[in-house]
Amino acid sequence: MDKSILYTCVDNYAPLITALSDRIWGYAELSMEEVKSAQDYCRVLAEAGFSVTEHLGGIPTAFSGSFGSGKPVIGILGEFDALSGLSQEPGITERKPRPGSACGHGCGHNLLGAASLGAAIAVKEQIAAGKLSGTVVFYGCPGEEGCAGKTFLAKAGMFRDLDAALCWHPGDVNAVTTGSNAASLQYVYTFTGTASHAAGAPELGRSALDAAELMNTGVQYLREHMGERHSVHYAFLDAGGVSPNVVQPTASLVYMVRGETVRSARALLERVHNIARGAALMTDTEVTWKQIDGTASTLSNTVLEEVLQENLFAAPMPSYTPEEWAFAKALKDTYPETGLPGKLTAEDRKLRAFIKERTENGARAINNFVLPYVPSNAFSPGSTDVGDVSWLTPTAQFQAVTWSSGAPGHSWQNVSQGKTSMAHKGLLYAAKVLSGAAADLMENPALLQKARAEFQEAAAEGYDCPIDN
Ligand SMILES: [Zn+2]
Ligand SMILES: [Zn+2]
Repeated sequence: MDKSILYTCVDNYAPLITALSDRIWGYAELSMEEVKSAQDYCRVLAEAGFSVTEHLGGIPTAFSGSFGSGKPVIGILGEFDALSGLSQEPGITERKPRPGSACGHGCGHNLLGAASLGAAIAVKEQIAAGKLSGTVVFYGCPGEEGCAGKTFLAKAGMFRDLDAALCWHPGDVNAVTTGSNAASLQYVYTFTGTASHAAGAPELGRSALDAAELMNTGVQYLREHMGERHSVHYAFLDAGGVSPNVVQPTASLVYMVRGETVRSARALLERVHNIARGAALMTDTEVTWKQIDGTASTLSNTVLEEVLQENLFAAPMPSYTPEEWAFAKALKDTYPETGLPGKLTAEDRKLRAFIKERTENGARAINNFVLPYVPSNAFSPGSTDVGDVSWLTPTAQFQAVTWSSGAPGHSWQNVSQGKTSMAHKGLLYAAKVLSGAAADLMENPALLQKARAEFQEAAAEGYDCPIDN
């Protein structure tokens, strides 16, 4: 089809989509607490003519909106949760928390969800007009930042009926995301001891805090003996009370154990469990643990990635005003120039050379170009719940420019930029890329078959859901 129809449709809906993004920016709700955001989305979806399912998979803030009938079924993933500690006034180049809110959209999920919805609307309009046939499903996926919402949706049986899933993420480059991510498992360990006077009756006390510290020490010694592509992180949730003259009777920690695969993360987790048991034994305390969430590794799909790349080129690239360039430059001056990360693949080096060539004195404030697509087996040590979707249906993702170049993830600078005209331009561009890719897949059964064949080979061992309980 002539994709300019899709692009015009996105532009026609621009006021609705950008206003939704701005409202979500304002709600700034944390993972699994996105009540207002989910209600707003469900209302917009219903008004746009989608058939809405609330409480998807039994999750209060998950939902879907579907339109059309029959095959193919194309899923477009949206996120909308914010981050704590990142309250920030919009559109300024200095750190200034916004009164009345402790949270902010430092990962740009206000833009992420709204662009995905914009794409779903553009595809829906073409199905309604008889120009495309099949079904488009927008997934409102809560809790990406802290709770792996998509993993719980996957556990509840979602995504399996899709022919493909597409998503994107706000960023500082226009580029297809490829390679794999680590699988992760999050557990809370709780130690229980006995309180007593730390000086008067220490022999009667059993310190849960000591146990927690010994567990952490044990894990430090484990690090040398973990495989590559594995890592362990922790944070204290409870260090007992605030009185040093009390033997602390409680302590709890949250641990994130990452591995190349769910299976290898589980093997590493068993060793962490043993260290917790050992710490309890040493201190004569009790330990229990409970899983919070987990994510699978990510399977890339080169067939879908090529479709996304073609659409990154096909959609009209935003142009920026002198004011937008100046704002991006002023923001760029608020964070240090990042050095090269430690481990770069040959592909990473090529991409960085490509950016450098297009950057005057290393100081381009907006990366207003599309990076070449280099399929790669690169491994990212971070984790994403998109990984779980990628084990259930062919899945691909890209980034689009919504932020000044080099902007750190999860930063106040990203919150500040989240409602700017530059972010809105990136949002609309992403919606056009997504809708173009969805249309390509709906019109070309052979493409979907090729994507399916690649997926079946990559996912041959089957989805191993990382959530056990
Ligand atoms: Zn994030
Ligand atoms: Zn994110």
